[in-house]
Amino acid sequence: MKEFVLAASKGPKALIECDESIPCDPCVHACPVNAIEKDSLVSPPRVLFEKCTGCSLCVGVCPGLAIFVVDLSGDKGRVTLPYEFLPVPEKGEIVDVLDSQGRKLGKGNVLRVTAGRERTMLVTVEVDKQYALEVRNIMVLKNG
Ligand code: SF4
Ligand code: SF4
Repeated sequence: MKEFVLAASKGPKALIECDESIPCDPCVHACPVNAIEKDSLVSPPRVLFEKCTGCSLCVGVCPGLAIFVVDLSGDKGRVTLPYEFLPVPEKGEIVDVLDSQGRKLGKGNVLRVTAGRERTMLVTVEVDKQYALEVRNIMVLKNG
């Protein structure tokens, strides 16, 4: 994680949490700069941070929703995550941000919402840097 924090402090980088030995590799093929490598189809992917531009194309293709893009370069953290629930948040909306166990970490400001693959949306939230590395989901507070 130290290596990731160093890389993300300079700009957005893909953070992959895929440790299952499953035959899967759409992330590898989605990356336009070949920044994701796997030793074999079933081995875990690794990101070459020096190549990763933080474009987020890999986030929307992962069937396991296991890829996030984190940017620690500013005063606030920015996290781009895959989102498949309704309602879909809007830009400028304040949402709750959750960790991998669904626990609330704090509030996030939605900066961007874009369509990923099929029904997966990509949501970018601005959050306190202290928990930017832990954000794995959001909870929309209105329209529900
Ligand atoms: S964020 Fe973009 S450049 Fe980085 S690993 Fe994913 S697809 Fe490749
Ligand atoms: S697409 Fe997702 S689940 Fe498949 S290898 Fe890449 S990170 Fe793992």
